[in-house]
Amino acid sequence: MNSVMQTYARFPVTLVKGEGARVFDSEGRGYLDFVSGIAVNTLGHAHPALVKAISEQAKTMLHCSNLYHIPKQIELAEKLTTLSGLDRAFFCNSGAEANEAAIKLARKFYYDQGSSRRTVISATQSFHGRLLSTLAATGQDKVKVGFDPLPPGFLHVPLNDIEALLSVINEQTAAILLEPLQGEGGVNLADMAYLQAVRKLCDEHGILLILDEVQTGIGRCGTMFAFEQASIRPDILTLAKGLGGGVPIGCMLAGETVAASFGPGTHGSTFGGNPLSCAAALAVLETIQKESLLQNVNEQSTGIREGFERFMSQFSFINEARGRGLLLGMACSVPAAPIVAKCMEKGLLVLSAGPDVVRLLPPLNISADEVDEAMGIMEGVLCEVESEIEVER
Ligand SMILES: *Cc1c(COP(=O)(O)O)cnc(C)c1O
Repeated sequence: MNSVMQTYARFPVTLVKGEGARVFDSEGRGYLDFVSGIAVNTLGHAHPALVKAISEQAKTMLHCSNLYHIPKQIELAEKLTTLSGLDRAFFCNSGAEANEAAIKLARKFYYDQGSSRRTVISATQSFHGRLLSTLAATGQDKVKVGFDPLPPGFLHVPLNDIEALLSVINEQTAAILLEPLQGEGGVNLADMAYLQAVRKLCDEHGILLILDEVQTGIGRCGTMFAFEQASIRPDILTLAKGLGGGVPIGCMLAGETVAASFGPGTHGSTFGGNPLSCAAALAVLETIQKESLLQNVNEQSTGIREGFERFMSQFSFINEARGRGLLLGMACSVPAAPIVAKCMEKGLLVLSAGPDVVRLLPPLNISADEVDEAMGIMEGVLCEVESEIEVER
């Protein structure tokens, strides 16, 4: 019995400690962590560089308010704008808040121009957060039920269907909001050609392109941002999950012309970009570079994909390997939940994405040995699932 509100269907496990890619429960049992707190623990657990940055910042100053200049925030904005090619950063505390800021900025940008463009188009199966605005943007009915009325001005079209997008854009369209790779919705990749076509369409029609890289950003897909792989750049970019390596921080970046619409008093956040969260994010970015983690993401991604390919030839109920970098999905013709539960019993944490996709999100510094170990555990689980299917027959 506990008094926490019951918004989550939790696994019957209490995790109390972590080191690297390993976490330990209250009974002292270890697990290989291929969830990373849902793409958050970029550097695994208790990485010395992150621990040091946070401890030193805690000794200096935790919080002082955005009423004042914050050196670490300025430094982080500089890093993120350089990395993304955008010009200005707004800091908040979560992915939903970053998307909320992006939607507000897009509307304000057109308001300032005397334009009536207000509508935001996003994809079916998308996930953009649990705030009312971001629920309205989300393309999955299951998370919206019971929360009417949601803010108006949102439309949804199937991903990778440029004709569908063309058929709904008009003089009211302010922005197109997309995940380059849908994480929650089932590890569904936006085709490179589609992203390029959307970019072109936005340019031709004067529509802003917002990319939600809350899950895909910060090296998760093998480049600092997933959009780099399509050789495009969004007008507005949102980040959160992996940015602070476990310390809550969200960020919305935009080019100068668009960012100009967020002047003093237009938007804000009490905690957003406080010294502690910015120190954490700086340590994460620095470590990604120092430890060549993008290269590691790509190497270990290959290892996991090889495992998936093997499973596909070995087991008739494994259909497809999906994803990029270390945001990978294995699509099954059986439910994912029992596979996830069995993996946990055998000491491997993985998660699902939609009803039938097993999703893997290991830390970016996962080793080849740890990948081998995880693939071994998965193989054992899949063998069990196969024999259960045979018994049912
Ligand atoms: C997790 C997620 C969000 C929401 O982030 P919160 O920090 O939970 O608000 C938004 N967009 C995407 C793509 C996500 O994966």
